[in-house]
Amino acid sequence: MISHPNDLIGEALRNAERLLLVTHIRPDGDAIGSLLGLGLALMEAGKSVQMVLDDHLPLQFRHLSGSEKIQRAIQGDFELAIALDCSDRSRLGRFGQDAIEWTINIDHHITNDGYAKINLIEPQAVATAEIIATNLESWGLQISEAVANALLMGILTDTIGFRTYNMRSDVLRLAANLMDAGANLPELYARTIYQKSFEAVKMWGSGLSKIQRIDGVVWTILTNQDRQQAGYAGKDDADMINLLTAIDDAKISVVFVEQPNGKVKVSWRAVPGIDVSQVASQFGGGGHPAAAGAELAGELQNLSETIIEKTYLHLLKTQRNSENS
Ligand code: AMP
Ligand code: MN
Ligand code: MN
Repeated sequence: MISHPNDLIGEALRNAERLLLVTHIRPDGDAIGSLLGLGLALMEAGKSVQMVLDDHLPLQFRHLSGSEKIQRAIQGDFELAIALDCSDRSRLGRFGQDAIEWTINIDHHITNDGYAKINLIEPQAVATAEIIATNLESWGLQISEAVANALLMGILTDTIGFRTYNMRSDVLRLAANLMDAGANLPELYARTIYQKSFEAVKMWGSGLSKIQRIDGVVWTILTNQDRQQAGYAGKDDADMINLLTAIDDAKISVVFVEQPNGKVKVSWRAVPGIDVSQVASQFGGGGHPAAAGAELAGELQNLSETIIEKTYLHLLKTQRNSENS
């Protein structure tokens, strides 16, 4: 009989004492929530755990208890390596290039290429933190207050406050259980969804002033200069993409963010029925049907024109197919 990855993970976690947990670069709330949720639960079970990230920990996650234990380098050996919320090795930053043998890969990206020995990939899950929260107790681990806060934060951020189209009623039940275990929903909501820095909102001004549209495709561009003028410290879009998706007739929203290293980070969001991960894949990226990303080398203006053209063609093709079916 072939064992389910869930059972294999439980067995692997029980049998290992020294564990390495890594999540993806440019971490979002689910990356950090999954890393902390599983990492702290393993620590509380008496294991020796390294929670590692090849990036800075974004400010909005530093209030979480246990976040101070996240490190930027591997120290010493480990028996078991676990990758979380990460669809392929390259998104692990320098740890993806190291000759690490990944034993466990827990993720919800449909584009996950299954690079570990045990791959628990559930594309219908709203967050990797949902998969962890659902299975933690069956893996012999407990949901303490700190673990509950981390996991609810992962679910809350990947669903943008329970409002993405993949939301299911059992996610709300799971969230309620996490609140019962001590998670503070209003505080997590304020710190990771609602509150923005002055600089972030100032950068929105630049992005909003350059907004463009072709039919159902809406997009904007954020340059290094926009970032400097706003005094914004991050390399991300400051959640600009969420403002574009608020436009009622936007079927696909796209934000281009020029990076200090000369590359361009692209984010796509789509309404149900449109799969933007297919467009992102054409440019070496990936993600989910409703939310995808890519990072490309090239000149911002040319690149944005090419990508918008392909995105628009994808929208037309999807609309044509749905008319014919
Ligand atoms: P973002 O627009 O960066 O918020 O990403 C949207 C979704 O696409 C997230 O679920 C990411 O994990 C995924 N994603 C973003 N960038 C990449 C990339 N370069 N390669 C693969 N997946 C990505
Ligand atoms: Mn993520
Ligand atoms: Mn995720």
